[in-house]
Amino acid sequence: MIFNVAQLMKSLVGTSLEADIDEEIQFDEEDLKVVGPLIGHVRMRRINQGLLVDGWVDLTFELTCTRCLKVFEQPMRVLLEERFQPTLDVITGMPLPPIKEDDVFPIDDHHQIDLTEALRQQVLLAIPMVTLCKEDCKGLCAQCGTDLNLGTCNCEPEVDSRMSILKTLLAQHEEQAIHKTHE
Ligand SMILES: [Zn+2]
Ligand SMILES: [Zn+2]
Repeated sequence: MIFNVAQLMKSLVGTSLEADIDEEIQFDEEDLKVVGPLIGHVRMRRINQGLLVDGWVDLTFELTCTRCLKVFEQPMRVLLEERFQPTLDVITGMPLPPIKEDDVFPIDDHHQIDLTEALRQQVLLAIPMVTLCKEDCKGLCAQCGTDLNLGTCNCEPEVDSRMSILKTLLAQHEEQAIHKTHE
């Protein structure tokens, strides 16, 4: 997702350029496979310090369900709004002082911007820690591994742990009751 912005950088503040995105890319991340092309639209606008880029990208990930381990496809729309600053003066070609802010991306020596890194960061923020194939995924039986979305198994439900939770709750309740009567 590389765009040459030399002309835009020579333009007046407020000038903008729009572009469609239709590309196949993979992010350099484990467990984050992109399926099919990225489709999107961005607007690059000349601002005082450099460029403001905003727009959207639709893409589909191949994710693994945290509960049942099934691989599923998750479409996602990612919104972008990023600032870019030049590393070289577009007229003189002289190097500019380094960019201080860490939320600003560089316009490279060839007057190009690459939206891949900005998009990668937004994607990592957008993908939840727990990825579910569906909201009410029943997961796998902890004892025999049966996918409980597909059917039930004959394992005994684990009553023991539930009983102990109940006992703890009852004990707490009793303790509170005792405190009350003492007050
Ligand atoms: Zn699942
Ligand atoms: Zn089971």
